[in-house]
Amino acid sequence: MNDLEFRQQVLDPISSSFCAAKWFNATIWLGSGMTTSCHHPPAHLVPADRVRVNPRLLHNTDQKKHDRAQMLRGERPAGCEYCWKIEDIGRGNISDRVYKSRIYPIEALDEARNTPPNHDVNLRTLEIAFDRTCQFACSYCNPAFSTSWVNDIRRNGAYSNLVSDGRNHFTHTHDSSQLYKITEANPYIDSFFAWWESDLHRTLQELRITGGEPLMSGHTWRLIDWFRDNQGRSSTRLAINSNLGPQVDVYRLLDSTEGMNLEIYTSMEAVGQQAEYIRDGLDYALWRQNVQALLDAGRTVHCMCTINALCLTTLPRLLNELIEWKRTFGRDKVNFTLNILRFPSFQSPLVLPGYLRQVFQSDLTDWLVDHRGHSYLHEYEINHTQRLIDYLDVVKTPHSDAFELPKLQNDFRQFYSQYDARRNKEFASCFPELKEWYQQL
Ligand code: SF4
Repeated sequence: MNDLEFRQQVLDPISSSFCAAKWFNATIWLGSGMTTSCHHPPAHLVPADRVRVNPRLLHNTDQKKHDRAQMLRGERPAGCEYCWKIEDIGRGNISDRVYKSRIYPIEALDEARNTPPNHDVNLRTLEIAFDRTCQFACSYCNPAFSTSWVNDIRRNGAYSNLVSDGRNHFTHTHDSSQLYKITEANPYIDSFFAWWESDLHRTLQELRITGGEPLMSGHTWRLIDWFRDNQGRSSTRLAINSNLGPQVDVYRLLDSTEGMNLEIYTSMEAVGQQAEYIRDGLDYALWRQNVQALLDAGRTVHCMCTINALCLTTLPRLLNELIEWKRTFGRDKVNFTLNILRFPSFQSPLVLPGYLRQVFQSDLTDWLVDHRGHSYLHEYEINHTQRLIDYLDVVKTPHSDAFELPKLQNDFRQFYSQYDARRNKEFASCFPELKEWYQQL
């Protein structure tokens, strides 16, 4: 059954807006006590006093129960707008709710359908972040997720003159993202480990650790030690999101996880100096070496591409590099997903003028024509590429509350001129294809 058939034959009979991620998947930021179902809906706070009593509330919040009830009625929760935008393109594009539902067995979908929405359910896939310690300060990230971003704001003050940054990503240090000092007891982390010990280690298919940079957190190594010391007690697959940058000891990771079911997810969406511009802190050559070391050791590497306005100039070259690895190590050892950035909206690919979008859309179309017939591509990799091509063609605004284009473009210029000064970078020399347009903004 292909992805479209799965949507039509399995999801639609439950409801036209059903998504199993709302029941079985969560991202939980334990430093701030925030959670969401997948990366797209806005995160919301888990009440600390209640979670001490019932650790399952780390996931089963009132908000998610409300959204589940809506989905069972065929209504669209507002927070899932990312998926509705893809579906409303009207060309049969596959939204993430299909991918995020079909990873579970059919019995799980029946369980979701038959469980009263106000009941707690057991998670099957979970992504957690222990804290925001990170040696990178990527342009599309912010101080809520990176201590390097905190340092930028502390040293240089708020970014100024951004009118579309409604969430104030770049104006303060987001201290609410780290409610407890690293050395202090944190009820969310304590509840997670209590839940993990009691039953999560039996119910979870996959536990993914994110950050910050998770390999810079002692709690990540505590979990890795748990898996090593409790072999056979859990069949949960462990996955780690790592930037594979400086200070990440890939060889320690390989040694500590030898024989374990571990998969690595890493972010990248461009190559060389363009990638280093977008992901401040990155050493692209080192990233390649680290990926190579993981693949040489037989590990699986998933490349998560965050599609922003700056990556489209070299995205096809990155995809070619991934294809080379696929050819050497096999289709399943290297995978990629193309995730379209919506926030901050002035960094969306939709801020680019029509003629540039057309150039990048045509580059991607050519790339897809060259590769789509080959067995090294997964169906979802083809679909992700096609939906990006269609997105660049059809969608006009990154999200429903986005400011109009001239304001986003003005913020684009405002932001990157300040970013250049703070980070010792130079937009115009790094992105010659965008230079003329950028300088006219
Ligand atoms: S945004 Fe999409 S994939 Fe995420 S929970 Fe909502 S419907 Fe599911």
